[in-house]
Amino acid sequence: MSKAKTGLVQILDQLEKFYGPQEPAWPTEPDLFLVWWYCGYPASDAACARGWESLQREVGTDLEQILRASPAKLAAAIKPGGMVPEVRALRLKEIAARIKDEFSGDLRAALVGPLAQARKILKRFPSIADPGADRILLFAGIAPLAAVPSNCPHVVVRIQHGRERENYGVTYREAQQAIAAEIPEKFDARTRAYLLLKRHGQELCKRTKPRCPECPVSSACAYFAGRHRGRSARA
Ligand code: SF4
Repeated sequence: MSKAKTGLVQILDQLEKFYGPQEPAWPTEPDLFLVWWYCGYPASDAACARGWESLQREVGTDLEQILRASPAKLAAAIKPGGMVPEVRALRLKEIAARIKDEFSGDLRAALVGPLAQARKILKRFPSIADPGADRILLFAGIAPLAAVPSNCPHVVVRIQHGRERENYGVTYREAQQAIAAEIPEKFDARTRAYLLLKRHGQELCKRTKPRCPECPVSSACAYFAGRHRGRSARA
């Protein structure tokens, strides 16, 4: 008799038991998220957090504080976040000015409305694509979307189908469909899924060389069972 497939909610329960409850490590208000995002480059939780903490200390993260600071002072403040601080400083000033001028300083109010319109507004900010827009709308409590961590859509795909596809867009869509189909359309359920899949992708289910022998969900994982969908297990 074939083994019953483990549902995604049960997989998340096992991941939560292993890693503990997860909290977002970034500000969830849309305007502050954008500031945080440009605090690091290449953008990662660690780089953005370093730049953000320094910005808080040296300038402040309020839009008015960013607008008042000189580009040189901003660049020095976000330097701990990584490369091209001068470019990121100009970007911070640009987004602060746009939020102030185009949305009267209230980006959240502009996002509460038709979903397509909200996504369009967010994607007009530099380096925000669909994954970033969905993440902002979900964590801000605006729309309970099936958001997928952009750096690890492969996690849920490996568990359910086996080896992820070579095409990032296809893998991303497969991950989004899995979350949409199995995780209730509620903010707490969808943010929990996002955070646990992200943590697992960072810790064990890495894009290259996943650490399967240590994985708490290996017994339910199609990749671990050898389903590589016509490709080698090696990345
Ligand atoms: S068994 Fe391996 S591929 Fe499957 S979820 Fe765990 S780490 Fe990822």
